[in-house]
Amino acid sequence: MDATLPTEDLVLLPLGGAGEIGMNFNVYGFGPPDDRSWIVVDCGVVFGRESATPGVDVIMPDIRFLAEQRQSVLAIVLTHAHEDHIGAVGQLWPLLRCPIYATPFTARLVQDKLAEAGLTDKTRVTIVPLGGKLVLGPFAIDFMSITHSIPEPNALAIRTPLGVVVHTGDWKLDPDPLIGEPTDARAFRQLGEQGVLAVVCDSTNALVAGESGSEARVSKSLFDLIGSLTGRIAVTAFASNVARLESIIRAGRAHNREVALVGRAMHRIVGAARETGYLTGLPPTIDESEAAELPPDRVLYLCTGSQGEPRAALARIAAGEHPTVSLGPGDTVIFSSRIIPGNELAIFDVQNKLAALGVEVLTERDHFVHVSGHPAREELSQMYRWLRPQVAVPVHGELRHLTEHARIARSLQIPQAVVIQNGQMLRLAPGRAEVVDETPSGRLHLDGKVLVEEAKGHARARSVLGYAGFVAATIALDSRGRVAGDPALILEGIPDPVHAPIRDALGETVRRHKPRRGDEETLKENARRSIRRAAASAWGKKPITRVEIIWV
Ligand SMILES: [Zn+2]
Repeated sequence: MDATLPTEDLVLLPLGGAGEIGMNFNVYGFGPPDDRSWIVVDCGVVFGRESATPGVDVIMPDIRFLAEQRQSVLAIVLTHAHEDHIGAVGQLWPLLRCPIYATPFTARLVQDKLAEAGLTDKTRVTIVPLGGKLVLGPFAIDFMSITHSIPEPNALAIRTPLGVVVHTGDWKLDPDPLIGEPTDARAFRQLGEQGVLAVVCDSTNALVAGESGSEARVSKSLFDLIGSLTGRIAVTAFASNVARLESIIRAGRAHNREVALVGRAMHRIVGAARETGYLTGLPPTIDESEAAELPPDRVLYLCTGSQGEPRAALARIAAGEHPTVSLGPGDTVIFSSRIIPGNELAIFDVQNKLAALGVEVLTERDHFVHVSGHPAREELSQMYRWLRPQVAVPVHGELRHLTEHARIARSLQIPQAVVIQNGQMLRLAPGRAEVVDETPSGRLHLDGKVLVEEAKGHARARSVLGYAGFVAATIALDSRGRVAGDPALILEGIPDPVHAPIRDALGETVRRHKPRRGDEETLKENARRSIRRAAASAWGKKPITRVEIIWV
């Protein structure tokens, strides 16, 4: 046996978030390869898209690799409360049944998720104070406060017998974040001086030059903009950006407007923030029905729906379907947000509807009303200069973000920068990181109330249904296997001119059928093919086709 072979190693295994933005789920393992202890860092979702996954609102990682050895999973540790970091806790916790750790604001929102999933009696989130420490088997974890676009973002310094890994979570360097302290540069620099094995880091804005900008500057700009407007104002922003909400509420009040929160998420997040010690001393908000009674210049609505979500407040206001809020000529909607790629059409649809009502729409293209919560290139470089790790591992990004992030790290003389994707297990050893294994990975769809494997293809089948409809044919055979009567046909979503060719092709197949014992399968398959061929020739599309045999 090779005496230099380590008996214990440290590995990183992303099961989500490496190769995509969203669905963050990173696993660290320590121990001998056949008996590792695991910790999970973040447990997030990505939202489905109607065009790609019709009927699926939420997608999460397939964690069967961990579920099969759940007795070795020590904990789920959550860095912050964005959905792409905590959104899957309610569905995936039952597969792991391990303790959950988070700082107070995150814990408060995760507790809601557990309640929604009916798990309140089964588990609770253990609260870690800001800057707190946690020991989990071979892992000693320091929570390091950092800045982002939600209260209480944490980087984790994960200490192991083989070295320290800094898992950044989502972050930026905001000199004036309004809520929470600026990032403690000294703490990160000290870690770097002690020696960091690896940095596992946010790649979202690796393609963006410069710096992300400060929340305080947005606050000032929004204040001036809101002061310059007449008529009703509605501002839409991510509800989780509590600092932004506070800026907007204060600006509204300072300009003599009453502020009403509109949309469930606004009330939920503001409630959670107040309960955990944020938004204290904020002027009171009023009910949306009270706001409707006030003169236009005295009102500011703070709304959900900045991504064009069809059920959110702003989409309903734009469609004229909101029960209490209506906007019209002379009023203004400010999108204090960015367009998340993939949401363009939904957002533009809402903006078109607002324009049709005569409402002026202002976005980050018109005014300085938003900053990103993720590090642009200058900030990434700063972090690497502080930490000087032996290895950089970009996560939280599509492949194009990960590769650019790796290039930036290499340009800063970080010895090794490794791009891995979901399911690739990376061994982190002093002086060398390498992919040592590929584990089963994949995606689960929350389809209505049911969790199903993406690979089973139900969403894909619905996508085909939407494109080319559905044909069901029933053929009756008598006891000697002869066709009895005309086959019955059901055609859904098939244009009229295609019906006759399908009917004729099926009739022809049935007529040509020579009864032989046990030959029904051949008849079914021939009928199915003839229907699809006829549809393709008459229409240019192949519908989903089912053929059943009944015995009469
Ligand atoms: Zn985040």
